[in-house]
Amino acid sequence: MRLKVLGAYGASDAEHNLTGYLLDDWLAIDAGTLTSKLSFAQQARVQAVFITHPHADHIRDLPHLILNRFAQASPSLTIFASRDVMDLLMKNVFNGIVWPDFSSVIAPATGKSVVQYRPLAPGKKVVFNSVTLTAIPVDHQIPASGVIVEMGGQGIVFTGDTGPTQKIWKQTNNTPNVVAVVTEASFPNDQQQLADDTAHLTPETFGNELKKITVDAPVYASHRKIPFERDIESQIRNLRDRRARVLLEKNYTL
Ligand SMILES: [Zn+2]
Ligand SMILES: [Zn+2]
Repeated sequence: MRLKVLGAYGASDAEHNLTGYLLDDWLAIDAGTLTSKLSFAQQARVQAVFITHPHADHIRDLPHLILNRFAQASPSLTIFASRDVMDLLMKNVFNGIVWPDFSSVIAPATGKSVVQYRPLAPGKKVVFNSVTLTAIPVDHQIPASGVIVEMGGQGIVFTGDTGPTQKIWKQTNNTPNVVAVVTEASFPNDQQQLADDTAHLTPETFGNELKKITVDAPVYASHRKIPFERDIESQIRNLRDRRARVLLEKNYTL
């Protein structure tokens, strides 16, 4: 599978982008960065987005992706999220105030609704376009679920934002042919208290999470906060675990 990292940071400036990933050009994981890095034609090819949680750095471009759908002759955009996350999105974002609820709007180009919401039960596999998605709760400040994606005989795991967690690693260890795990290291080790208070990882706690993962696949640290990226990167390297990697904003072939 191809993983396009549109944004690998938990903060943004001219050279760093908010969390957003694209698999095989059509399945997005989080939407901090989507429209801002994809052409109109590339956006039309995005068929589904999985949202890990409603923090702004993970949804910033989602309203705009939906709006652009209105002018595109492409199928409805399917939005996946765990049920509790979907409830928060509906109540706080697609509430007719911050942004319309486009699920009731028909696109003139297709005669179909612009967007479809697919709330997921935790741990339950769903199949979409021959791809299996499993939402697994993680430990963040608010309801949040990572996702395990199985496509073309390969598995990839995205935790989204999380502090130390368990369930998703158990499921990861039971998933065949995992080729990559994308988790986070938001703050450097000297800010462990801040990381703990905000339910994030540092390289040190990232290292503790690595010990819970038994699969032999690269485990990427994403969601680094500006201006700590250099410290975080060197501390990830110092873990001396060959699986530990820093996620870069580039295209990966897995
Ligand atoms: Zn975040
Ligand atoms: Zn968050």
